[in-house]
Amino acid sequence: PLPPRLFFEAVEQSPIAISITDARATILYANRAFETLTGYSREEVLGQNEAILSNNATPASVYQHLWRTIQHKQTWSGTLVNRSKQGSDYLAELTISPVLDRNGDLQYFLGMHRDVTKVH
Ligand code: FAD
Repeated sequence: PLPPRLFFEAVEQSPIAISITDARATILYANRAFETLTGYSREEVLGQNEAILSNNATPASVYQHLWRTIQHKQTWSGTLVNRSKQGSDYLAELTISPVLDRNGDLQYFLGMHRDVTKVH
């Protein structure tokens, strides 16, 4: 059987920026790639909303669609312009998937993103 620690280490060492939030997008966990890509240390982002990554120029309608999708327990994928702590904007290919509890209720969200600035 796989040791439980392996699941943590696999996520921790993933080259994709991964974060886990509560149902309101408050960051509870962020992996190493998240720190590298966003420029924020874990200590800085834990307890903050993922909105800390917003470039503040994305139309609210984009976020509304995102929230409608994930609140319906569906996965949302899209591209957002994020701003790093250093103030540079990057194109983030982001997937947000719901994490349900035993009763099938929304409990957490899993966020995964990578920088696709150079790809485009
Ligand atoms: P706001 O004015 O707060 O929100 C804009 C609109 O979004 C609102 O009008 C409302 O319709 C909707 N909205 C916001 N919060 C909620 C809520 N709790 N419930 C329902 N509707 C809501 N955003 C990024 O810009 N970059 C990211 O990389 C990113 N990653 C995310 C990862 C995860 C796992 C989750 C759950 C969310 C992520 N978000 C990300 C979305 C982020 O949480 C904010 O909603 C978004 O950045 C807009 O925040 P704002 O303060 O700029 O705008």
